Amino acid sequence: MAIKQELHVQPQTLVAQAMGELCPITGAVIPPIQVSTTYARDGDYETRDGRSYIRDSSPTVEQAENIICALEKGQQAMLFPSGLSACTAAFHALRQGDHVVIADTLYHGVTQWVQEFAGQYGLQVSYFDSTDSASLAKAIIKGSTRLVWVELIANPTWIVADINALAEITHQAGAALAVDATACTPVLCQPLTHGADLVCHSATKYLNGHSDVLAGVIVCKDSESSLWQRLKKYRLLAGPMPGARDSYELIRGMKTLYLRVHQQSANALKIARMLEKHNAVERVYYPGLEISPFHELAKKQFGGGFGGMLSILVKGGRQQAIEMVLSTKLWKPATSLGGIESLIEHRKTSEGEITNTPDNLIRLSTGIEHVDDLIEDLDQALINMMVKS
Ligand SMILES: *Cc1c(COP(=O)(O)O)cnc(C)c1O
Repeated sequence: MAIKQELHVQPQTLVAQAMGELCPITGAVIPPIQVSTTYARDGDYETRDGRSYIRDSSPTVEQAENIICALEKGQQAMLFPSGLSACTAAFHALRQGDHVVIADTLYHGVTQWVQEFAGQYGLQVSYFDSTDSASLAKAIIKGSTRLVWVELIANPTWIVADINALAEITHQAGAALAVDATACTPVLCQPLTHGADLVCHSATKYLNGHSDVLAGVIVCKDSESSLWQRLKKYRLLAGPMPGARDSYELIRGMKTLYLRVHQQSANALKIARMLEKHNAVERVYYPGLEISPFHELAKKQFGGGFGGMLSILVKGGRQQAIEMVLSTKLWKPATSLGGIESLIEHRKTSEGEITNTPDNLIRLSTGIEHVDDLIEDLDQALINMMVKS
C-alpha cells in the first residue's frame, strides 16, 4: 500500500489516488494492468512474489480490493466477476444444515438464488422484515443460524435497515450479519463500523459508476473468522475471479466515487422534492424526504446524503407507468443503477412475476447531469402520461 498508513488520510484522498500506488519499475502514476495469466519461476524454481497463476492471485484485482477494503474500513476484500457471484459466495461458504435468515425485501436475484438452490445445498432458510428488528429476533435460531442477510437501503422502496440493532440480535445468536450496501455506497455509510460482519456490493453499480463493468465485492470485518476463511476457500476452489481489465476499469471508475455520489444524492433530493408535489405522482419513496418513515434512521446512520435512488408510484397502472418511462427524453429507459447517466424503469418488468412490486412503480437512478434538465424531463413525461390517459 503506497499511501502510508500513518498519514491517516480521508477516504476521498485514498480513492482519488487509488491508494497512491505507483508502478515499482517505471514510477508510472497509473500502475500497468497486469494481464498475464501465469508467472515464470526464478532460478531456484521459486515463485517471485508468491504468484503462480492468475486465478489464485492477481495484482490488478488486489489493487481494486485494497481500495474497497479501505473505503469500507474492513480487514480484507474479495472481488468477484459480478455482484450476484459475490452475494451468493457468502451462501456457498456455509455448510449443510446451516440456517440463514434473509430479509424479505432484497435484490430479486439473491432471493431467486436462495429459492432455487439453498435447499439443494442443505441450507435452512427463514425470512424477516428488515424494518423490524423484532422480526429478526423471532426468525433467528441461537446456535444454528449462521448468516443474516440484509440490504442497507433495499430495492425498490428504499427501506433502510438499522444495522446496529440487527447486528446486536445477530451476534446474540452467534451468527454473522452480511449487509448488501450497493445502493448506499461507502460514501454514505460503512456497515462494518455499525456492527456488520460482511459488507457486499454490486460494484457494477455505484462503485464503478459508468455502466461499463460487471463486478462484485465482499469485505470482512474479521479476516480470521471461519466464515471468511471458508469464503476465501470458496473463491479459490470454485474460481469466480474477475478479469484484470475489468478490475482496472473499476479502479478508474472509483476515483470519482465521492464526487459522483454526492452529486447524485443532491440531485435525487431535489428531484424527490419536485415529485412529491407533482399532480401525477401518488407517492415518492426516498429516505431523504421528511415524510419517509426511514428519514430519522437514515439521518442517524448515513452521512453526506441519502443516495441517488428513488421510486415513485404514478397515478394509474402498468400502462401509464410504461407510458411515462417511454416519454422521457434524457432519462434512459433501462434497468441497473448507480451510473453517471440517469436511468428510469418500470420495476416490475425487470423483477418478473415473483415480486409484489406494484404495477405503477417507477424506479429512478439519478445521474450527475444538471438537475434542472432532469426535473424538466420528468415533468414533461408525467404531463404526457396524464394527457394520454
Ligand atoms: C445489481 C445488484 C446486485 C447484483 O449485482 P450484479 O453486479 O448485477 O451481479 C446485487 N445486489 C443489489 C442490491 C443490486 O442492486
